[in-house]
Parts: sequence; structure tokens; C-alpha cells
Amino acid sequence: MELNSVGGDFTEVGYYILKAMIDAKYELKLWYMKKKEIVCNILHNKEMIMNEHLIDEIGNDHVSYTTETPMKKDAAVLSEGEKIKKIEVHFKQIMEILGLDLDDDSLSGTPHRVAKMYVKEIFNGLYPENKPAIKLFENKYKYNQMLVERDITFYSNCEHHFVPFYGKAHIAYISSGKVIGLSKLNRIVNYFAKRPQVQERLTMQIAEELKDGLNTEDVVVVIEAKHLCVSSRGIKDDSSSTITSFYGGKFKDEQTKTEFLSYLNLKNYK
Ligand SMILES: [Zn+2]
Repeated sequence: MELNSVGGDFTEVGYYILKAMIDAKYELKLWYMKKKEIVCNILHNKEMIMNEHLIDEIGNDHVSYTTETPMKKDAAVLSEGEKIKKIEVHFKQIMEILGLDLDDDSLSGTPHRVAKMYVKEIFNGLYPENKPAIKLFENKYKYNQMLVERDITFYSNCEHHFVPFYGKAHIAYISSGKVIGLSKLNRIVNYFAKRPQVQERLTMQIAEELKDGLNTEDVVVVIEAKHLCVSSRGIKDDSSSTITSFYGGKFKDEQTKTEFLSYLNLKNYK
């Protein structure tokens, strides 16, 4: 009896404790769900706020996430002429939305001019068929020191703002037995510059192309550039320039690196 009584009491107490626990858990769950919902909403809103914020941030900080230029899979579907026609239509719309009178003689041809310039000139480095073929020559003189091509002028366009950045590229390599025509180095720089770009990616793409083409890791690419999106808008800093570099193979050791940098400082060749 006693045991039963104790057992009964225990069961009763246990029941209330258990019920209270279940209720509490239920309440807790409700509270948690509610809270989760609120947190989700906050996160969702924050995400929305961050997205707008991020768009500016990524642009102003010139952040890029890939070495390859991000291209659509169907990039090669349209012909050059079709691209020009389509861009012309859309650029005309942009101008009209801005309130410009396209009947004006000075403006009427602008959509076509811009479209042609995009496709045939400033963005023609997007198409692999325009890539300069690298022709290698035997290194007859057995020249196995570094070869430096400096002050290669280039003009590119920032992919975040579609305004120019421009400057000089300095390239060097140590021959693995073959050499490349000097003007080819300029052409390679300009091929990759003629894309919507970020400077870091431009540097990497040139370096990768040279490594592949020259069959060596011993390449260096240094780029110094001025960005109009920094000087003419946003922070409006007119005096700063941006330097990016890639040091591969032997150029990673201090002595070779110092030798290369000393050639860049030879002002009398400017
Ligand atoms: Zn920019």
C-alpha cells in the first residue's frame, strides 16, 4: 500500500511535472518558432539591405571572385553584327530614359557608334577568336637571363562601372628554351585588357597566358593603373594609382625579384 501510495503520489507528481515540462516545451517551441520567424525576417531584411549595400561595396572596392571572365554559356551564339544591332537598340533606350533627344544630329548616331565600339574595339577581347596566337622561336643565343618588356600601355574598362582604367604593364620571363616575339607581349596585354575587367584578374589572366604559352613558371606581371571610377566619381581621388603583381617560379626569390624591380626603375630608358 505504502509503496502504491508513494507510487501513486509519485505518478501524480510526475504527471504534473511531465505535463508542465511538455507545456513548457510546447510554449518554448512556439516561442522559438516565433523567434525564428522574427530572426528570419530580420535576416531577410538585412539580406535585402546588405544586397544594396554590397552592390556599392563590391564596385567601390573592386572585388572580384574569379580568374576567368564570367561568361554566359551561349556567348558565341550571336554574330558580331547581331550584337551591334541589339546593343544599339538598348543603348538608345538608356539615352532616351536619361531624357536625351535622339533626333539631335549630334546624338542620333551615338547608339550605333557605342555599340560598334563595344563589340569591335573596347570589348573585343571577350572573344577567343581574337586572342593573339603565341608563336615561339628557338632561343638561338641561349639567352637564359630574364627578358623584361616594360611600360606596355593598355586601356581597359572596369567591369563594376564600365568606365576606363588604364596604365602600364611590365612583364618579364626567363626563357625555357623558346622565346616569344616582343610585340606579342603587347598584344597579349591588350587582348585581356579589352574586356570588362578588374585589375587583379587582368594581371592573373596575362600571367596564366604567358605561363602556358612560354611553357615556364618563371614569369612576372606588374600592372600599375589609374581607375576613372576612383578619380572621377565615388571617392574622387585623382592622385592614387593601383599596383597589382604576379610573381611566378624563379621570380619568387628575392634576388630575381629585386633584379626585375631594378629594371623598372631605370628612368633613362623612359
Ligand atoms: Zn570601377
